[in-house]
Amino acid sequence: MIEYQDARTSVLSAAKTLAAEFCPLAAALGRTLARDVRARENIPPFAKATMDGYAVRAVDTRPGASDAADGVALEVVEDLPAGRLSRRTVGPGQAVRIMTGAPLPKGADAVVMVEDTKAHGRSVVIRSEIRPGDNIGVAGEDLEKGEIALGRGAVIGPAETGMLAAAGLSRVPVTRRPKVAVIATGDEIVEPGRTKRPGQIRNSNGPALTAMAVQAGAGVSYLGIARDRKASLAAKLARGKGADILVLSGGVSVGDYDLVKDELGKAGVRPVFWQVRVKPGKPVFFGVRGRQLVFGLPGNPTSAMVTFLLFVRPAIDRMLGRAVSGAPGGTAILAADIELKPGRTQFLRGVLADGGPVLKVSPYDDQRSGVLRSMVRSRVLIVVPPDVTRVEAGREVEIIYMDGR
Ligand code: AMP
Ligand code: MG
Repeated sequence: MIEYQDARTSVLSAAKTLAAEFCPLAAALGRTLARDVRARENIPPFAKATMDGYAVRAVDTRPGASDAADGVALEVVEDLPAGRLSRRTVGPGQAVRIMTGAPLPKGADAVVMVEDTKAHGRSVVIRSEIRPGDNIGVAGEDLEKGEIALGRGAVIGPAETGMLAAAGLSRVPVTRRPKVAVIATGDEIVEPGRTKRPGQIRNSNGPALTAMAVQAGAGVSYLGIARDRKASLAAKLARGKGADILVLSGGVSVGDYDLVKDELGKAGVRPVFWQVRVKPGKPVFFGVRGRQLVFGLPGNPTSAMVTFLLFVRPAIDRMLGRAVSGAPGGTAILAADIELKPGRTQFLRGVLADGGPVLKVSPYDDQRSGVLRSMVRSRVLIVVPPDVTRVEAGREVEIIYMDGR
């Protein structure tokens, strides 16, 4: 039996970041950047108008610079839409009519918004004084040439997609998705949609673990249910051979039909640890077969999901080259007392309170490991160290966001 931290360390040292590949920008959502992407030019590449109006020399808008009664009159020498370069240089007493996004003409150092002007044929009256730099965006204000637009390991969301497009990439270097194969085990479990006999229960772990692996960014194949018989397990294990990560649920405890560890051994999996001082999830098994990582998660639905969060998702993160999850990512103030038996690091399903200036968390009121409801209602895990038997309301506790934040 080993400690949570040691178990985590040995999983992470066995997980290696996968190779890079290119994917089209339109398919990059959710992928992980394999290397730094730098701006190949200034973004934006030129100074431009941020308002519709007139590009001018700010000095010309000072009152008294010309003789118009209601402002300063300037000669309009050109009309400039977005997407075109000016052929003119704005000289003293001159203005270029300019649209938002158009490159600032030479000579001009500011844009007067159209609302502050009045057009009179070939001239315009500027009704308010402006300063140099007003209503213009400077070249490189978003990113300067050579600057890192997005760092290696960034998870590509909508904003990152926009940034990659702004940097001109149509193909994005991303890490290959780890292949995860999921096997549920048990004589008593039945797939949803199939006839269930007395004494049987639904297979919730197969679908839940598959969903967790997809959400973690892996490519997942679900291999179905292995029965608690050697031949059935061996056949499934053979089918899972090509995966980077093999995840099994059930059959790793000390019951008469818990055959998973033995069969993994026969299939060439070298055990790294079995049983970790955590609650829930104590019977969790981890081993390696060549470069493949193999996890035997406990069958209780909550234990299976929590051990996935603590050990499997971090391995996927590492393979993807992302920041590794599965460790406390913040703290919250406990809203109710907790009493616990000592001996194991506990991961209590916790509900965050809405609103208020401080983040508050309450343990979900049913912490039994067969109760999947606690996973549905809770957003975080409250981490309590192994030697602690009581934590009072008002104390700060460490939390893990289950959505991977
Ligand atoms: P095991 O780890 O195989 O001893 O299973 C522990 C408990 O989890 C038992 O009550 C099983 O019936 C239940 N269980 C095992 N596998 C699943 C599954 N795939 N879906 C839902 N419950 C399961
Ligand atoms: Mg079982």
